[in-house]
Amino acid sequence: MKKYLALGALTCSLCISFGSQSIQAAKEKPVEVVIDNQSVGFVESKEAAHRALKELAIFPKLGAKVEKEIITFNNKIEVKEVEEENLAAMNKKDFIHRLKNLSTTYLVKSKGSWQEEAQRYGVDLVDLLHINQKKKGDPVPEKIYLPVSSIDLAIEAKEQVQYDLTVPYKSQKIEDNSLPKGKEVLVQAGKNGIERVDAKVRRINGEKVEHLIESAELIQEPVNEIIRIGTKQAASGTFIKPTNGRLSSPFGPRWGGFHRGIDLACPIGTQVVAADGGTITRARTHAGSYGNYIDIDHGNGYTTRYAHLSLIEVQVGQKVSQGDPIAKSGNTGRSTGPHLHFEVCNQGQLEDPLKHIQG
Ligand SMILES: [Zn+2]
Repeated sequence: MKKYLALGALTCSLCISFGSQSIQAAKEKPVEVVIDNQSVGFVESKEAAHRALKELAIFPKLGAKVEKEIITFNNKIEVKEVEEENLAAMNKKDFIHRLKNLSTTYLVKSKGSWQEEAQRYGVDLVDLLHINQKKKGDPVPEKIYLPVSSIDLAIEAKEQVQYDLTVPYKSQKIEDNSLPKGKEVLVQAGKNGIERVDAKVRRINGEKVEHLIESAELIQEPVNEIIRIGTKQAASGTFIKPTNGRLSSPFGPRWGGFHRGIDLACPIGTQVVAADGGTITRARTHAGSYGNYIDIDHGNGYTTRYAHLSLIEVQVGQKVSQGDPIAKSGNTGRSTGPHLHFEVCNQGQLEDPLKHIQG
C-alpha cells in the first residue's frame, strides 16, 4: 500500500506552500525530515528540505518550457521543526544527496545512550550497535552511523512540457546536362524546419519514466537544399586511338571506290573506346555493310563511327567520356577480316581520322 500525504501541488518555486504554513514566513530553524516514520536526517531549514524534495522530483530538466507541473509524494513525509542547535544539519545539496542514497548508512550527532538513539531514530538497537561496531555497554561516540533505511522513496512529478525539435532539411540533386560532368552549383541553400512538441513527462525521483508526445506541429517548414549536378560529357576536341590495332587500310580512294574511314586490324573482342567525350546517337546491329556499329556525337561539330563490332556495350543517349569502353571489335558486316572501321566526320564532312590520331 502506498501512503499519500497531501502536501498540495507545488506550482512554482516561489510560492511553495507546506501544509498551511508559508515557507517564506518560517524562521531558519533546522528541521528533521521523517519519511515513512523513519528519520532521514536534519536539514538546515524547512525551505531547504522542501526545495530538495522538489528538485529531486524534477531533476534533470529537458530544457523544455514547463507549462504545468504536479508533484506527488508517494511516501508519508513529515518535516518537523527542532529546537536544538548543532545538529550537523544538511544543506539542500547534501539533503538531495541523502535522498538519493537512502539505502546507505549516514552519520548523525549523538545525544543519549544507544537505547535512546535507537528509539529516537526508530531503528533497531541490535542493528545500530552492529553498524557502529559497538557493544551495548560501550560509550556512545559523538557521531554515530544509522543503519540502512528500508524507505522506498518515490516522488512523482508530472509535467506538461513544450519544446522545439529541429527538422533537418533534405538535399535535392538535379542533373543538369548543360553543366560539365561533376560540377555542382548550389541553387538554393537548405534551412532546417522547426517542430513544436507538446508532451507529458512523468518522473520518479527525477528519472524520466514516461514521455508521451501529445502533439507535434510543424511551425517552420524545412527548405530543401537544391544542387544542380553537371552531366555534360565535354568533348576534349582531340581524338585518341579508339582501339589497339595496326592500320591496315587508310582513308580515301580504294578499289575504285572511297574508303570512308580507317581500318585498325585487331583480334575479335579487342576493347574499343570512345575517341572523345560525347553522347551515343546510334548503336545498331546487323546494319548492312557496317555490321554492328556505334555513332558518337561529340557536341562540337564532330561525330565518330565505330563499325564491324562483335559487341556493343553502350546504349543510345548514354554519355561517355574520352577513353570510356563502348564496344568489342569484331568482323560483322562487309568485312574481309577482324578489324575496327573508324570514321571521323566534321559538320557532315568526312575527314581523315589519321589527321586526328596517330595510326
Ligand atoms: Zn573500313
